[in-house]
Amino acid sequence: MPSPNNHWKIQDAYDTYLIDRWGEGYFIVDDSGLLAAKPQKENGASIPLLDIITAAAQRGVKAPFVIRFHDILRHSVISINECFRAVIKEHHYQGQYRGVFPMKVNHMREVVEEIMDAGSDYHFGLEVGSKPELIAALAVHEDTRSLLICNGYKDEEFIRLALNGSQLGKRVILVVEKLEELRQILSISEHHSIQPCIGIRIRLNTKGEGKWSQSGGDDSKFGLNTAELLEATKLLRKHSLEDSLQLLHFHVGSQISNISKVGKAVREISRYYCKLCHLDFNVRYIDVGGGLAVDYDGSRSATESSMNYTVREYASTVVNAIQEVCDEESVPHPDIVSESGRAIVAHHSVLIVESFDSVSKNCHGTVPLQKADHKLVHDIAGVARNLTDSSCRETLHEANRIKAEAESRFNLGLLNLDDKAKVETWYWSIAEKVCSLSEDEADLSELAELSNQLGDQYLCNFSIFQSLIDHWAVDQLFPIVPLQRLNEKPDNNASLVDITCDSDGKINRFVREGTRSSTLPVHQLNDSPYFLGVFLVGAYQDVMGDIHNLFGPLPETHIFLDENEACGFYIEEVVAGQTIDEVLSDVQYEPQQLTRLLKKQIDGAIKNGRVKANQGMEILFKYQEIMKQPTYLKLK
Ligand code: PLP
Repeated sequence: MPSPNNHWKIQDAYDTYLIDRWGEGYFIVDDSGLLAAKPQKENGASIPLLDIITAAAQRGVKAPFVIRFHDILRHSVISINECFRAVIKEHHYQGQYRGVFPMKVNHMREVVEEIMDAGSDYHFGLEVGSKPELIAALAVHEDTRSLLICNGYKDEEFIRLALNGSQLGKRVILVVEKLEELRQILSISEHHSIQPCIGIRIRLNTKGEGKWSQSGGDDSKFGLNTAELLEATKLLRKHSLEDSLQLLHFHVGSQISNISKVGKAVREISRYYCKLCHLDFNVRYIDVGGGLAVDYDGSRSATESSMNYTVREYASTVVNAIQEVCDEESVPHPDIVSESGRAIVAHHSVLIVESFDSVSKNCHGTVPLQKADHKLVHDIAGVARNLTDSSCRETLHEANRIKAEAESRFNLGLLNLDDKAKVETWYWSIAEKVCSLSEDEADLSELAELSNQLGDQYLCNFSIFQSLIDHWAVDQLFPIVPLQRLNEKPDNNASLVDITCDSDGKINRFVREGTRSSTLPVHQLNDSPYFLGVFLVGAYQDVMGDIHNLFGPLPETHIFLDENEACGFYIEEVVAGQTIDEVLSDVQYEPQQLTRLLKKQIDGAIKNGRVKANQGMEILFKYQEIMKQPTYLKLK
């Protein structure tokens, strides 16, 4: 537990925000209370995120924006490859590891290129699930020893493109998602006289767990069941293409939090592999799909936002399971493919938002009692007077009763605004006192709920729909931490609200020790800017957001460590966010036409004397000027 008020230490910040738990050593708090990144963990320098915010401002980028730590990306790619290598060596496993990165998890060019580069020594490849992804992958994938795996439903052109990749000497594997697709692949490859490299996705009985468990099991929308697999083998034999079947694949869902599910699924696919070997199919790869989880809440448990295993344990579970089944059935060990996405990219990107104002319950006000006040006002003031350490809960119950009665009287027209306001002000001041007197009892759900209700709302300049879509869509937790003042005890609790016009544009679920909380410990806002970092947003969030309210994609700064620089890093690239005119064009408003339409109205207003000519032109210039600016609030 964090220390009491005046004894706040840096360690308390770690304990409050669980930085060590979800940060995996990539993030620390420095001695001056600043949140800093350590992209190479204990072996490298640390950079306060505030320094990056300052450097970005010099390049014209202000919050909200995304920081990408390319060194973290490289570190993650190397880590997973080294884990598999080490486990394979330790177990004397006969096959190799050939990982691929699933582009859909983050298809930004810079991200994919960095992963390819960092993974080149390991022949790390790519996985695609659509034609646009394949078009991009064919160009950036150059290593003929690494794999290019094509999942997802395919049409003739998709298949043709993939076969063209094979013609160029790439190891492109077309993974069959349904039987009809195999017929198509066979006919197209025959027509063009190209030998296809085929994988088959198996619809395993084993299901994943949590939010994405529907990706596996009998009801999954992808893959072949056992009867269809047998049919596929017959088709391949008929075309004398037994050698084309190179890979067996499964994917039972993302974020598999329980390692036992991984072991079960890998065992099941290994059995299919062995049976195919016995049928004289020389399948070369087992592809265990994605699913390697990220510990978003730091609880190291099998709950939805966490995982009860490490990357090393994952590698060892996969290798062990395949080895055991293959040895039992006396078949050769296949090469192992995994399609881990979130585990590779989640940590490398941080969303920076600035909180610029707060909305609080009016619980600090004192209301002088007057004789003419309504009886309910006198009652609740009396309740407040009698509040003692030992009467907290009774007092709260009585205050709740009076507040409820005031509400119903008001609705019946029996209480005026003045008296309602006074009852509410007394209520919140009682609530605050009850919470502070019963700090040790915060585990009582009633008081915890009250404490959450008392929290402020911190207004933050960003859009949850653009930058944190999974929080809104699937209740995913993301760690959030103030980037400064971590050497001061946070003296407030707040939920975070964005600037969209939607009431669900807010964050009210936070990572806390042993629980979820609807508020985050924060500091009272003062004259200095107050920045918050939303962490582990590198997977899916960067690329899935929408332009709800026309808030566009954010600018990015790409950071590399550099010990020759005084600040220890440099900004390699700034990627501009979208400006208002660009977002408008995306939804078919042509900026020039908008300007023309407005000018016509201004001309009319000048003509009928509503505005002077100069005023009219000023309106037009301002309109055009603002159209070129970012979509978010321009804070001072
Ligand atoms: N492979 C396939 C076929 C997928 O559908 C997915 C995502 O759901 C992945 C890989 C990546 O999964 P993850 O990000 O959990 O590693």
